[in-house]
Amino acid sequence: IQRALRSLCIPLERLHIMKGHMMQDMCKGLSRQTHAQAKVQMLPTYICSTPNGTEKGNFLVVELCQNQVRTVLVTLYGDGNMSPQMMYKIFDMPEGIRQGEGEALFDFIAQCVSQFLAETTTPDTSSPEERLPLGFVFPFSCQQTQLDKAELLSWSKGFSCSGVVGKDVVQMLQSAINKQEVGGNGAGGQWLSPWRGWKSSQFTPGQLSRVDVVALMNDTVGTMMNCCTEGRPCEIAVVADKGSNCCFMAEAYLVETAEESSGRMCVNTEWGCFGDDGTLDDIFTPYDVAVDEESSNPGEKRFEKLVGTLYLGEIVRHALIALTAEKALFTGTNIGVLKEKGVFTIQHVLDIINNEDGTTDVKRILEVLGLQASERDCSRVQQICRAVVGRAATLHAVGLAAILSYMCQTRDMETLMVNVGVEGELYKGYSRFEEILQSVSRLLSPECLATLLPSRDGSGWGAAMVTAVALRLAAQRHVVNEVLGPLRLTQADLVNVQALMRQEMERGLGKNTNATASVRMLPTYVSHTPDGTERGDFLALDLGGTNFRVLVVHVTEEGISMASEIYVIPAAIMRGTGEALFDHIIDCIMDFQMRQNLTTQTLPLGFTFSFPCQQVGLDKALLLTWTKGFTASGCVGQDVVQLLREAARRKQHSGLQVVALLNDTVGTMMSCGYDDPKCEIGLIVGTGTNACYMEEMRNVGTVEGNEGRMCINMEWGAFGDNGCLDHIFTHFDRVVDETTINPGKQRFEKLISGMYLGEIVRQILLVMTEKQLLFQGRASSKLQTRNIFQTKFLSTIELSNGLALRQMRVVLDELELEASFEDCVLLREVCQAVSLRAAQLCAAGLAAVVEKMRENRGLDQLSVSVGVDGTLYKLHPCFSHNLQQTLKVLAPKCDVSFHLSEDGSGKGAALVAAVASRAASAGQ
Ligand code: ADP
Ligand code: MG
Repeated sequence: IQRALRSLCIPLERLHIMKGHMMQDMCKGLSRQTHAQAKVQMLPTYICSTPNGTEKGNFLVVELCQNQVRTVLVTLYGDGNMSPQMMYKIFDMPEGIRQGEGEALFDFIAQCVSQFLAETTTPDTSSPEERLPLGFVFPFSCQQTQLDKAELLSWSKGFSCSGVVGKDVVQMLQSAINKQEVGGNGAGGQWLSPWRGWKSSQFTPGQLSRVDVVALMNDTVGTMMNCCTEGRPCEIAVVADKGSNCCFMAEAYLVETAEESSGRMCVNTEWGCFGDDGTLDDIFTPYDVAVDEESSNPGEKRFEKLVGTLYLGEIVRHALIALTAEKALFTGTNIGVLKEKGVFTIQHVLDIINNEDGTTDVKRILEVLGLQASERDCSRVQQICRAVVGRAATLHAVGLAAILSYMCQTRDMETLMVNVGVEGELYKGYSRFEEILQSVSRLLSPECLATLLPSRDGSGWGAAMVTAVALRLAAQRHVVNEVLGPLRLTQADLVNVQALMRQEMERGLGKNTNATASVRMLPTYVSHTPDGTERGDFLALDLGGTNFRVLVVHVTEEGISMASEIYVIPAAIMRGTGEALFDHIIDCIMDFQMRQNLTTQTLPLGFTFSFPCQQVGLDKALLLTWTKGFTASGCVGQDVVQLLREAARRKQHSGLQVVALLNDTVGTMMSCGYDDPKCEIGLIVGTGTNACYMEEMRNVGTVEGNEGRMCINMEWGAFGDNGCLDHIFTHFDRVVDETTINPGKQRFEKLISGMYLGEIVRQILLVMTEKQLLFQGRASSKLQTRNIFQTKFLSTIELSNGLALRQMRVVLDELELEASFEDCVLLREVCQAVSLRAAQLCAAGLAAVVEKMRENRGLDQLSVSVGVDGTLYKLHPCFSHNLQQTLKVLAPKCDVSFHLSEDGSGKGAALVAAVASRAASAGQ
């Protein structure tokens, strides 16, 4: 007896190993490569959400059970699913239908539905347009490819209907329902009304044709769903019944066998086959081996045969036979009755072990079976039964622990708290099941805290929830698409933007059209990109980026080196007089020259001045308008270089030789051009956006001369200011534009650059919250603050996949938002839509540029490089990729490579100065 009991008891270390194997097998089942060989199949269910309590409406469920068909009608009120109305009816299946033709089976199910509906109708289901959604509980192994598309893999549980395996069972049921006559032929069921009474009224003909089969599911999923109520998601279900199975919410991107990649998806583990590859062989006792050999599928479903209630009685029976043979039990009595398969049922086992006081009942149970048992036999039989059932509970705990740890790991959490729905004969019948499941899983996965919840009512109610959730998601998806639709640009839209940009470029270049063009196409008087032979020491100024800087740049054979200082420009000076501003700049230069020991030299100076200027020479540029918060008086319309020189005179600083003024786009192009002669385009995607490129002089109508090329500062941020992009602006863009300091201006920039993307996202989030799509309809007061949503948040959020959600939490906390997992998934979708559009529009602009350059040069194929600067471009996880992909599509004849510029403003300014001095000396 002791030996038998020991063999049924699995040591803790062995349980740990088994848990590890289970986790390995789960990964194997989820991976596309190894799925086909996996024993734990991990079938995707396409159920991507759990109920949140807002579900409402009428839902029909039909459940195919062992010998019955159950029909259920559930009405949900959107009240947290607290007071559902539910009505069901059970139909007995006629003999032979389980082995007959598939069509007959589905016709019968359809008849049950028809009959049920004929007798059940509610005032609110009577509107003829309303479609009644149906959830189909089909507890067989299926290859599901959508929630409403599932091919039967194989029958089990005594079913073997012909013509069903390999077919879509949803389709079969829908067809059967569609051809069903109203009223049916009366399948003859019995009424059960567990909750509130149901108001029966006259059935309207044609009702059945309104039934849509919208979801198919396994019974395990139903169990998980029916444990969910408001604020208490249940993400695992364990069914400990005749068979054993489990499902849980997995990160969708890990379910490689399904297309879904964002959010979560319920996975049906089908863990009954765990161990079919031999990993459980060492814990199999001779009794288990005997049970397996006698079963209809020897060697298969090894785990299920240790834990399913269909087998526990059999294991006990074989143990008793063996122990009697060893004379440890029933000595001298006839145990012939035990030879018959199935005599010892799970009910016998449960009755024996649940009897805690004394053995009188045990004796009686055994007597009824035909066994003469002594007092000692009774207690020994009881011990064996306890060991077999206790082991089953322990093994369920091992499986649960594997799932818990897997979830905890893949969600990148230190601790996991989760609710687990439990259901089944063993759970209900064995008083210690819950305690063992809880304590053993806790021992094996101490990082997880599972709360066990009893399932409400079989899978019918859960199936209604699945159906309701599916419809809620579909409705939600519809609204999300409505909101985001206008931001999603088709290729035709982008081709159109490209053509418009091209048109505005031509207008900007034309002598007579320039004044009214939205893209100014300003000449820069930079006619050459570097050729790498530039040498010398230069001073550089950088004004108009995030910081004001003074630099000294050494261009030598070995490369470019530099030193710089950042100087603050106080707000009072930015908004004071022009004289004060330029005096301050000279002060900074003098300070810098002192610190760098440069006071004795007069170095040529290049001035990166990133504001729109009408340039009339390389060192002569009239400020068109201030931007970025500058408003210093007396500057607009003046020559900026002259203003600087005058300030130097005022300050009696004679060692200053300003040779060039340039825009930051030009600096970016030049600095990349030093290393790559093909770099003839500069692009900025930072606070704002702009671009420059090398244009043929003959096309530049605003400057005399037709020879050679000149770099054109496009000032493309203003593209669309004349209304030509109005058709692509969304409601959100208009709101953002209206709240800026320059409404109606820089319209293209406001779709693309760092200063605006966060605010666009925020506007969308507000609308989505109002439409109850996010944050349970409640926006935090933080979220209602203008510009609170920074563009760098887009980078963080879009980077988050399953593993990095913690990063996303940081953003959400900062915004004081209470976000569910699904909120996070939707939030990411919003950010993706906004940043993708920005990248695509930027690509459309660039496509116009490269195509024009290609045509200018009469080439079939243009190979060109772009120097890029700007934190949005550099740090956003997808922007540059999306930009480059879109450009490939829009300008297939151009082969464009991108280089990140390092310190374009400083390096570029020096190079412009160098190129200018070289050109000047060549001219002399
Ligand atoms: P500027 O254009 O003023 O020279 P930057 O090129 O550094 O300056 O760009 C600053 C802009 O970059 C800011 O407006 C900010 O919105 C955006 N930004 C900052 N960090 C990130 C990030 N991690 N991801 C995307 N955008 C960012
Ligand atoms: Mg910059």
